Amino acid sequence: MSRIGVLGGGQLGRMMGLAGLPLGMEFVFLDPSRDACAGQLGDLLQAAFSDIEAARTLAGLVDVATFDFENVPQESAHVLAELKPLFPPPMALGACQDRLEEKRILTELGIPVAPNYAVSSRTDLLYGLDQLGWPSVLKTRRLGYDGKGQAVLRDPEDLERAWQSLGDTELILEKFIPFDAECSLVAVCGQDREIRYWPLTRNVHSDGILMLSLAADFDAGMQAQAEVIMQSVMEYFDYVGVLTLEFFQQDGQLLVNEMAPRVHNSGHWTIDGAETSQFENHLRAITGLPLGGTSATRHSLMFNWIGELPDAQALLSIPGLHWHAYGKSARPGRKIGHATLTDSSRTGLIEQADRVAALAGGQFPSLLKQLPGFAT
Ligand code: AMP
Repeated sequence: MSRIGVLGGGQLGRMMGLAGLPLGMEFVFLDPSRDACAGQLGDLLQAAFSDIEAARTLAGLVDVATFDFENVPQESAHVLAELKPLFPPPMALGACQDRLEEKRILTELGIPVAPNYAVSSRTDLLYGLDQLGWPSVLKTRRLGYDGKGQAVLRDPEDLERAWQSLGDTELILEKFIPFDAECSLVAVCGQDREIRYWPLTRNVHSDGILMLSLAADFDAGMQAQAEVIMQSVMEYFDYVGVLTLEFFQQDGQLLVNEMAPRVHNSGHWTIDGAETSQFENHLRAITGLPLGGTSATRHSLMFNWIGELPDAQALLSIPGLHWHAYGKSARPGRKIGHATLTDSSRTGLIEQADRVAALAGGQFPSLLKQLPGFAT
């Protein structure tokens, strides 16, 4: 069976490893950190992502390569792609590394996004604000994640603060979208161009970090709208593997906020709540195996553990709770694990979710209220 090379050795690579071992796959992860948590699931090549020699070495060790991290330098991706099949295609990776380019492509495809302006000077910023109005969101074009590298501008004081912290890099100013909900679609495309979609997932963020994902919480019309958008993006990139689109939902319409050319945190529930997980189907796609079913088998709600793990002893007494620790050390703001609560009924899920939120503590009891029908 295949040896898979993964650029990045974080929790996404680790969960790929967990999904791939039963398929008889072996893994080599390239990561700058000696403690990369995917290293427990395969060999670890410790090197910078910009290290071209290391990319060549990785290519020599594997049959096919992929990413668990989208900010891999283009040059390393291209070197790797010349030597071994690399999925998803480097062109998709490049587009997702730059928020402006990403929005330009989506707009070219006729897909709605937040109105936006490129900002490389204070004059650009003032012009953009004049066009978009307050509030607006200022973001770095590159390397932003989990709400880092962005600021909401509500008044001139915010503008000064944001310009001080972000003004030395290329930026994008976006209109602030007063969305009704945030959701994401995870889908997979095989090498035979077959696309399979998991159910649309409702997401709740806090300070830009994903905290809760409720699977399959939208009607067929919304699912269809998201699938049409996904299909046109996958066709544009000649995509193979898992792709995630994050949306704002406003008045029944979906706007794409962001694309991730990889498995995604909002798809972690698929491990415990779908016929085939996003990790397994990604591996099936990149190795040319038939894709597995993407239907939800249970009602699922994922809780993200940020900074520290809550008390597993207490939480695991809740029926249907599936625990996933990433083997990472505790640190504020760091994603170090998640749990997916599953139940055969929506009512059961709502009941047990209250217990999980109460035991996990922190913001969870109040975040749960943002899910319709929960914590009422
Ligand atoms: P991002 O890094 O672009 O995914 O942004 C992180 C989070 O910030 C999103 O999930 C939203 O909750 C919020 N956000 C980002 N951009 C906007 C926007 N244009 N309007 C409103 N909220 C936003």
